[in-house]
Amino acid sequence: MNSYRMRNNEIPMDDSWDVIVVGGGPAGCTAAAAAAREGAKTLLVEATGSLGGMGTSGLVPAWCPFSDHEEIIYRGLAMKVFQSLKEQMPHVSKDAMDWVPIEPEKLKCIYDNLVLEAGATVLFQTQLGSVEADEEGNVLALITASKNGLQALRAKVYVDCTGDGDVAAWSGAEYLKGDIATGALMPATHCFTLGNVDEYAYLNGPLLHNNNKNSPIFDILASGKYPLIPDSHICNNMIAPRTVGFNAGHLWDVDNTNSFSISAALIQGRKLAAVYRDALAEFLPASFGSSYVANTGALMGVRETRRIIGDYVLTVEDYVNRRSFEDEICRNSYFIDIHGTEEEEKKSGGKAEVIKRYGPGESHGIPYRCLTPRSLKNVLVAGRSISCVREVQGSVRVMPVCLAMGEAAGIAAALAVNLPGYDVHAVEVSTLRRRLKEEGAYLPEVISKV
Ligand SMILES: Cc1cc2nc3c(=O)[nH]c(=O)nc-3n(C[C@H](O)[C@H](O)[C@H](O)COP(=O)(O)OP(=O)(O)OC[C@H]3O[C@@H](n4cnc5c(N)ncnc54)[C@H](O)[C@@H]3O)c2cc1C
Repeated sequence: MNSYRMRNNEIPMDDSWDVIVVGGGPAGCTAAAAAAREGAKTLLVEATGSLGGMGTSGLVPAWCPFSDHEEIIYRGLAMKVFQSLKEQMPHVSKDAMDWVPIEPEKLKCIYDNLVLEAGATVLFQTQLGSVEADEEGNVLALITASKNGLQALRAKVYVDCTGDGDVAAWSGAEYLKGDIATGALMPATHCFTLGNVDEYAYLNGPLLHNNNKNSPIFDILASGKYPLIPDSHICNNMIAPRTVGFNAGHLWDVDNTNSFSISAALIQGRKLAAVYRDALAEFLPASFGSSYVANTGALMGVRETRRIIGDYVLTVEDYVNRRSFEDEICRNSYFIDIHGTEEEEKKSGGKAEVIKRYGPGESHGIPYRCLTPRSLKNVLVAGRSISCVREVQGSVRVMPVCLAMGEAAGIAAALAVNLPGYDVHAVEVSTLRRRLKEEGAYLPEVISKV
């Protein structure tokens, strides 16, 4: 690629922050709220105009399970967010713990309140574009682009919650991306909502999910009338009155670290949402005959990109053995949920997900060391790009886990602010875990060690 040397390389800088969190998805919201709550002067930088990431701007229609099939295990701020939304959704049972639907506009406001009430400041519509770091792995400043033009932002400690590990990767951290042998990434899905759905017919009609072998999605595919619909993947939830949210179909070879790739996928995703509407209106007229596409995601539904290499890489053995760690900052019980490539999905009839499920009450720990990039000093990573092998990323990437690890990253960042060199590797884990427990985190006694 050609290069261009900027003529004016001096830009304004705001260096008044203790902690800057980049990315306001589930991990970024709890990270910013926790860091501010611990007394750090905290800024949350978000590219879009609202908080919540995939759960709001991405229109993911439901929370993955908050329980280990016995009790809620993602607690602290995670549980606060979850309960607050449920309280505002009268059609959801207050005891529901698993696959609870999300009304995105309500969730956006819950995150606004969470972050602001904790004392953090939010900077919307501000995209991280570059990072200034030195040879020793210290981040010196973030370069952002917004309506302020280019601006440098400096803090003592940075938390990377971009989902893609932008801060860490652009600071020179080592990372892996997708399948290490083939480079394949899990397919993306552009989520959408249909409005004016007949609730009675939808709730009492056939189950659309492809777990039901008689789902109408198989009739739609067999008809050959809607060739754009790629496969039978069709998760759906009633997210509000007469409104159904869809996480349906796969878009292949989408790379969220390439804006041309994302742009093409967004266009294709919007086209696909209209096709799903027409197909559902034809095959399930009582439910969807009068429906319309109310919304498509402002963010593409990206399941994986970079995994930043940290002081520890969480492995499949750790997952399978339900391993505990002395420095664990949360537990996780979600199954390994890897969506296959186009070839794998075609071969398996749309069910290529690699699934390893735990029994009731089972979970594994996520060590603090998965959040500390090996080659960087003052940067933490939380959310779907933490340090783990690909299979484990297929589990820890979901929102309840991201909320829980974000809170830990926020507390750790605030602790690192008071350490020499702002070194996140030197954070006292006993203090971090004590603060997490005081705030209600689920951290049972360590039962096995690595
Ligand atoms: C199609 C799909 C379906 C899913 N279904 C479910 C489900 O049913 N239940 C569930 O619990 N989870 C589900 N997940 C997983 C989950 O939604 C995400 O993995 C999770 O939201 C990741 O959280 P995060 O905080 O790491 O990142 P994200 O939610 O991706 O948020 C990252 C935020 O950072 C911002 N950002 C990124 N780069 C920059 C930058 N350079 N500068 C400034 N801001 C930036 C983005 O705008 C975004 O707001 C699904 C994911 C996908 C893709």
